[in-house]
Formats: sequence, C-alpha cells, structure tokens
Amino acid sequence: MLTSMSRTIRWFRAPRRDNHPAMNEIELLADADARARRFVAGSETRRAFPGAEAIAALAAFDETLTDAGRPPEETLAMLDEIGSPAAVAGNGPRYFGFVVGASLPVAAAAERMVLAWDQSASTPLGAPGGAAIEKVAERWVLDILRLPPGSAVGFGTSASACGLTCVTAARRKLLAQAGWDFDRKGLAGAPPIRAVVSDVAHVTMIKALRVLGFGTDNLVVAATDDNGRIDPARLPTLDDRTILCLQAGEVNTGSFDPFAELIPRAKAAGAWVHVDGAFGLWARTSDRLRWLTDGIDQADSWTTDGHKWLNTPYDCAMAIVRDPAALTGAMSSDAAYSSAGAEAQKNRTMEFSRRARGVAIWAALRSLGRTGVAALVERCVAHAQRISAALEEAGYNVLNEVVLNQVLFRAASDAETVAIRDAAAASGEIWFGGTVWRGQQASRISVSSWRTGDEHVDLAIAKLRQLMEGHQAGATEPSM
Ligand SMILES: *Cc1c(COP(=O)(O)O)cnc(C)c1O
Repeated sequence: MLTSMSRTIRWFRAPRRDNHPAMNEIELLADADARARRFVAGSETRRAFPGAEAIAALAAFDETLTDAGRPPEETLAMLDEIGSPAAVAGNGPRYFGFVVGASLPVAAAAERMVLAWDQSASTPLGAPGGAAIEKVAERWVLDILRLPPGSAVGFGTSASACGLTCVTAARRKLLAQAGWDFDRKGLAGAPPIRAVVSDVAHVTMIKALRVLGFGTDNLVVAATDDNGRIDPARLPTLDDRTILCLQAGEVNTGSFDPFAELIPRAKAAGAWVHVDGAFGLWARTSDRLRWLTDGIDQADSWTTDGHKWLNTPYDCAMAIVRDPAALTGAMSSDAAYSSAGAEAQKNRTMEFSRRARGVAIWAALRSLGRTGVAALVERCVAHAQRISAALEEAGYNVLNEVVLNQVLFRAASDAETVAIRDAAAASGEIWFGGTVWRGQQASRISVSSWRTGDEHVDLAIAKLRQLMEGHQAGATEPSM
C-alpha cells in the first residue's frame, strides 16, 4: 500500500500551468467586458425574445469535449457570438415575463468586482470585506423592509433556497419547543408538524415543503378569494405545531394575504408564520403601497429576492428570520477547520462555499437610497396600472385587482388569449407569459425592470391594442 502510494507520488508531474500561452488574463477580461458592454448597450433595441434563427444557432454549442482544450479567447468569442443573440432580453425594458427584474448598473458592476475578488465568503476569514459589507446589507435590508431589527439575514441563491431555509428553521424550532431534538433524532417518531399553505402558494413553496418531507397530501390548504388572498373566515385551525405560509405578492395577481388579520391569530395559537415575499415584500419600501403589507412584520420569517424587484443580478436572495438562533441552529456548518459563529453567512444559508451575494444588494441600496428604491417600485406599479386600464379599454378582461406590478388578463376565449400572446412574442417587440387562472387561460404582464419607461409602456399598449383589433377584425371576416 505504502509502496504503491509513494510510486504514485514519485511519478506524478504537474502539467504545465500555461497550456494556452496565448492567453493573457487581462486582455481576455477586457474582451469579455467589451462584449458585455456591447450586449448591454443593445438593451433598448434587442428583441424581447430571440428569433428562431438565433435559437437554432445554439446547436453550435453541442460540441464534443476535446482532450487538448480550446483557446480561451475563442471560447469567449463563441459564447458571445452564439450565446448573446439567443439571450432573452430579461435585462431590457420591454420584457414583461415572469417577474424577472433587470440589473441595475451599480449592482451589475458590484457583481463584476465580487467575481474578480473570487473569495469564498463563507466566513470573515475567507472574505473580510464580503462579511463586513453583508453585515451592513443585513442592517439596511431590515431597515428598508421595516422588519424587526435584530432579525438574521442569510444571503442565499434564490427565494426557493431561502424559503427552504426558513421552513427548515421553522420546523426545527417548533419541534424543539415540543421537546424534540430534530438534529439528533430526525423525523422518525417526531411529533407531526403541519404546514398550511394557500391554494395559490408559489410552486417553490410547495417544492420546499415536499423536499423537506411534509408530503403534498399532508399540506393543509387555505382557501383564497378572487385575487388569491387567503380568506380569514376559512383559515384552517392552527396550533403550536403548525407552520403557516403566507404570501406577499401572488405570482399572478400580485395580491397580499391579509397579514394583520391572520398573523395575530397564528401567533396566539403558537404557530410559526413564514411569508414568501419574493418580489412583493418590496412594496414595504413605498409609503403609498406599504398598507398592503400591514402586519407582516409580526411574522417569524420572510423570504425575498434581490434578483427580482430590487434589480440585482442572479442569484441573489434573502432568508430573514426573527430569531437568529433558529436560523443559525438549522443552517450551522461549523467544523474544526472552519468555525465562525452565528453571524457567518455559511451558518445562515444552504451554501458553504459562496460568493458574497449581499454585495450587489448593498450596492443597489447604497446607490438608490430609500427614496430611489421606493421610486423604482412605485414606477413599476404605475406602469402596471396604466397597462391594465388601457387593456380594459381595448377590450381585454383584466382578471385581477391591480394593486402591484402584475396584470392578469385574457381575451374573449382561451384560443384568442393564446393566439394574441403568441403573436406578441413573435413580434419580438414585447414578451409576456401565460398561466392558467381559475381554470382559464390568462396572460401575465409583470413590470419589474428599472429600464421600463413610459415609452415602453406605450409600445406595449399599442401592440396589444393592435393585436386585439386584428383579432376582432379576423373574427368578423373569417375569409381573411
Ligand atoms: C419567483 C418566486 C419565488 C421563487 O424565487 P426564486 O428566486 O426564483 O427561487 C417564490 N415565490 C414567489 C412569489 C415568486 O415570485
């Protein structure tokens, strides 16, 4: 054994470091930056969704992995020349799909620096700067979102991962209160913990509960009204072994559960209240919209994204927990070689090795300030409300009360709704997605990009009006 090992060591030779002597790191990064700048400069004019030729050209990526590797500059050129034309313009002003947000220039620039640093921001030892900045970002996030000071923030990859994090902390804490040591004993034989979700809970909330072993058949479903808000009169019974999952910003309607009615009842029963506020939590930053979230600060945990309405790049989200020990207890990954205490981000998120995701959030908040964030949010809501009014006027049915940045609408029939959506997508001028709402086809327009201005809203309205007129004309003249 020893002999063969020493033979391996004796014969092992490090390959040459610079097996691509032509590569110059600084030139390559400059080239990447020039290409990225060209791409971003095209944001105003790019198709909202790439054309079929650009997508077909992606087949060029389907290469065989070589033994010898390929030159870095050629690899970058391929990425840009084939990848860029096929990019969905989520970072543009006329993309109204999902709730993607764009990237604020300062957040994208900060992210460039974080990538250059390439630190593992698990602990202050791995990234003193990252840790210092994320500590400030934590304080600012709690401040601007008006959540309890002293709550812990884990800067994770997504609302999916952060929601999973919060529910993990919730269940562990409820079990601890019932005298059960979850870390040592796991779930076998544990007192049952129930999860209550609304019938329009986001799929990633359901995913978190499914992954954690709650079982979709065991979820207790709370009924909602026409806008997807939990109806307090039909709230299932809650107790101290219940996690109640509420929503700030339903993904179709943008609606908010009635927190001020629901949360005090849940707390009185001893339940844990978690709020999925992936985008809607940012309504709290606006004096005009905050009423939608009244009472939300009484919850135990909240998730929200940076990469949606705050307009940071991906992957950037927050798990916020009122009781820091509940979060750290659930997520701790201290080891003999990496011990860092409760404030280390690796002890608050799913990730161990990670980049300092909070830096992009810090940069966005620092540059916009309170007023700037509120203005971004309010602008998107005003755009959505104007689109909603214009669609009604053009003959569409708007299905939701447009309280936030989501407009849910349809034409007279499922077929027309889909045909108009497809035609809008094919135009490349705008893009929005579809959904099924209360059993019917519907389209969703979401306004969440800092780039979207009045002129882009005008264009979207004109396009949708034209498509509706074309359809009505087509319907009365079937021979055309
Ligand atoms: C987008 C979204 C999520 C999931 O967030 P990701 O960051 O995409 O994982 C969860 N809930 C709601 C309401 C969302 O809009």
